[in-house]
Amino acid sequence: MVKKIDHLGIAVKSIKDARRFYEDVLGLICEREEVVEAQKVRTAFFTVGNIHIELLEPTSDDSPIARFLSKHGEGFHHIAYRTDDIEGELEAARKHGCRLINETPIEGAGGKQVAFLHPKSTFGVLTEFCKKDISEEV
Ligand code: ZN
Repeated sequence: MVKKIDHLGIAVKSIKDARRFYEDVLGLICEREEVVEAQKVRTAFFTVGNIHIELLEPTSDDSPIARFLSKHGEGFHHIAYRTDDIEGELEAARKHGCRLINETPIEGAGGKQVAFLHPKSTFGVLTEFCKKDISEEV
C-alpha cells in the first residue's frame, strides 16, 4: 500500500526560467538541482509542506521529457507515491492488468529507486512509485 504522495513532477522547457515562478511568485526554495543521466533529465526540487515539486527539463532531444513536451507542452507530468515496497506495488499493479513502464525499479533522482506505470492503464496519470523521500539521503 502506498503511504503518501511524495512529489508531483512537472515538465518544463527550462528549469532556469521556471524557477523564477516557483521562487519569486510562490516563495519556495530550490533544494537542489540534479542531472539524472539515465533519464536524460535535469531535475530541480522544491518542498511544500511535506510533499515536493520536481521540475523536469530534458537534457537531450531523445529524452522522454523532450518527447512529452513536444506532444503535450509544459505542465503536469507525473504523480509519485511513496512506498516501502516498490516490487510489491509493481506486482499488485501487474495483477490488475496495469501496464508497467519499469518491470523492476530503476535509479531515479538522488540515486533513489523508482518505477513507473503507464498512464494508459492508470486513468491518464503517469504514476511513479518511489521508495524514500527525495530529500532524504540514500
Ligand atoms: Zn518523480
